[in-house]
Amino acid sequence: MGRAPRWTDDPARAELRAIYAEADAILAPFGCALSGECCDFANTGREPTPTAVEIAEVLHAARAIGGIKKRRSLPVAGSRVCALLGDDGRCRIYASRPFGCRTFFCDRITGPGKVPRDEIQRLSRKLAELSERAFRRDPRARPLSSALAEPLEALLSRAR
Ligand code: SF4
Repeated sequence: MGRAPRWTDDPARAELRAIYAEADAILAPFGCALSGECCDFANTGREPTPTAVEIAEVLHAARAIGGIKKRRSLPVAGSRVCALLGDDGRCRIYASRPFGCRTFFCDRITGPGKVPRDEIQRLSRKLAELSERAFRRDPRARPLSSALAEPLEALLSRAR
């Protein structure tokens, strides 16, 4: 089996970004005034579960910002804040954030009507299919906090 291309040149990355762009366009009319709150997994009681192909993009973005570093601010007792949330309350890899972060709805979402869940599910299936094709050995989704706790390079080399 040949070596996988660099992630920036990988056709799977282009497909992933096209799926993300489609999701962003579908959800553009929707929003939330409480940005950042859902990045505390203790607050929401759940967390995004990116597939291997999404983790590859997270790894790429994390490298570009100098790696996944410890937050400078002290954690609030009982919180479980994503390691990629900056001290300013913004996602440090916003353009590369996983699908679940883009579509993570709660009852506080505002918008012109009902969230198009069928469309989101269609894209979610497309994403799973892409991960299965591009990361054949271990394409599965895993909780974001577990993925970030592992050496991401090792995780991905096992997956491809
Ligand atoms: S990747 Fe970014 S948007 Fe997603 S939970 Fe982490 S900080 Fe929040």
